[in-house]
Amino acid sequence: LIDSMNDIRLKDNKRIFNHPILKFQRGKLINIFFEGQKLNAYEGETVAAALIANGKKCLHKSLKFSRPRGFFCSIGKCSSCLMRVNSIPNVRTCIEPVKNGMKIEMERGQKIEQLNNQENRTEKIRINTDVIVVGAGPAGLSAAITAAELNLNVLIIDENIQMGGQLIKQSHKFFGTKDTFAGTRGTEVSNLLIDQIKKNEKQINWLTNTSALGYFEGKKHTIAAIQNNQRLLNLKTEKIILATGAQEKILQFPNNDLPGVYGAGAVQTLMNVYGVKPGNDAIIIGAGNVGTIIGYQMIQAGINVRMIIDAAKNIGGYLVHASKLRRLGIPILTSYTIKRAIGNDSVESAVIVKLDKDWLPIEGTEKEVEVDLICIAIGLSPSSELAFQAGCKSSNISELGGQVALHNKDLETTREGFFVSGDVSGIEEASTAMVEGKLAASNAALQLAVSKNRAQHIKKTAFKDLQTLRQNPFSKKIVIGKSRVYDLWEKLK
Ligand SMILES: Cc1cc2nc3c(=O)[nH]c(=O)nc-3n(C[C@H](O)[C@H](O)[C@H](O)COP(=O)(O)OP(=O)(O)OC[C@H]3O[C@@H](n4cnc5c(N)ncnc54)[C@H](O)[C@@H]3O)c2cc1C
Repeated sequence: LIDSMNDIRLKDNKRIFNHPILKFQRGKLINIFFEGQKLNAYEGETVAAALIANGKKCLHKSLKFSRPRGFFCSIGKCSSCLMRVNSIPNVRTCIEPVKNGMKIEMERGQKIEQLNNQENRTEKIRINTDVIVVGAGPAGLSAAITAAELNLNVLIIDENIQMGGQLIKQSHKFFGTKDTFAGTRGTEVSNLLIDQIKKNEKQINWLTNTSALGYFEGKKHTIAAIQNNQRLLNLKTEKIILATGAQEKILQFPNNDLPGVYGAGAVQTLMNVYGVKPGNDAIIIGAGNVGTIIGYQMIQAGINVRMIIDAAKNIGGYLVHASKLRRLGIPILTSYTIKRAIGNDSVESAVIVKLDKDWLPIEGTEKEVEVDLICIAIGLSPSSELAFQAGCKSSNISELGGQVALHNKDLETTREGFFVSGDVSGIEEASTAMVEGKLAASNAALQLAVSKNRAQHIKKTAFKDLQTLRQNPFSKKIVIGKSRVYDLWEKLK
């Protein structure tokens, strides 16, 4: 083990030690082994974060053409970071915590007999509760707190190694209302919600590093989940609140699989949660709120933001975020897109091209920009897989980010007692996600006829709060999308 922090600072320039806003609480310094090479890591970080901090951007090679692949989403939703960890194949290293002595290898395929010979490590556990909340982001945490306040027993599960969802990476101050923590940094909102969960520990149980894998119907709803890649959980519940959030959309362009092409959320996770620089020189694709906010956060992390480009004619995000970047001299080019990424083992540059009024590339306007990081911030789509697998009817609602489980105003899907809340019910904001969490929990209590007066009051207030939050002109399309969802629910239920 290397004991001295100074030694590490000298050897490793990818870790951030001085940040204007964030203080990184790193755990104990440990050793991991990547392809037999000894590397240092900090307890509490993920395998992928530790590898990138050590300059290992290539996490596996594609099976057919042996193309280098990095990671992309950092929330366990894509297959980019699958590796073999302590002989267990296909581990999602972006959400797998490091452990001292861990052996990490690239996947090279394995014969079926070898897989069958592996020792069976699974242990099976049954749990019974009133409400299961899947996802511990702002929607899920608020749902769990409200359900506990209404005297229901709750189990909250999340596949990340800590609770908080997207909030744990938002270092900026939020908009919204006083009740939804306007003016508070996302990271602090997450801490406030988690404190409330912990205060209710008699009624709320929580499991992190636990993925909901499947749904089974029966007298009660059953969720099959896996904890720490080892314990198989059979979770039975009266009501389900699905709060699984959203995942990054990807763009089609040659070499979009090169290490160094990362989703915006992944960039935020590396730099704001684990204090690891995802690159030195960056281009951001997408000038909406996410792209512009991340641009500023990259500068805070010491990354040189070369430019932001957007295919649309106008900047999509709030002016306040774009203005901060323009004041720092960062170009924001509209009517531009990325034509290709260039690089051998990882990104070395990006070629951008101007678009005409029909969004077609104008030949001869290509420019090559030297970057080692291409950050894709073109939007999110709801993580609805569990709802689809449960047979909830769904539809593609473009205003809400893609395919969503149809639901009514009470957030109940076409399956009775199965609710959605937050980004999984339509891409919106943390403020509305928290209110939707309360609404779903109050409806669960009403269906169970528990604490009825209080539940009615919470429900009424939540409807009012959603209306207030959605008066913002940016929410117009959400209101349209939601009313399409409610209408379809009525027709198809
Ligand atoms: C760059 C950026 C800036 C933002 N800024 C703001 C802002 O200023 N103000 C604002 O209000 N909002 C903001 N948002 C939006 C906000 O972060 C999201 O709308 C909000 O986090 C959604 O909450 P959620 O609870 O629905 O989902 P999430 O926060 O995404 O949480 C979902 C949780 O579900 C877990 N999960 C998913 N699938 C499974 C599974 N199968 N099993 C177990 N667990 C699972 C995930 O690990 C995750 O923890 C921003 C978002 C981004 C990306």
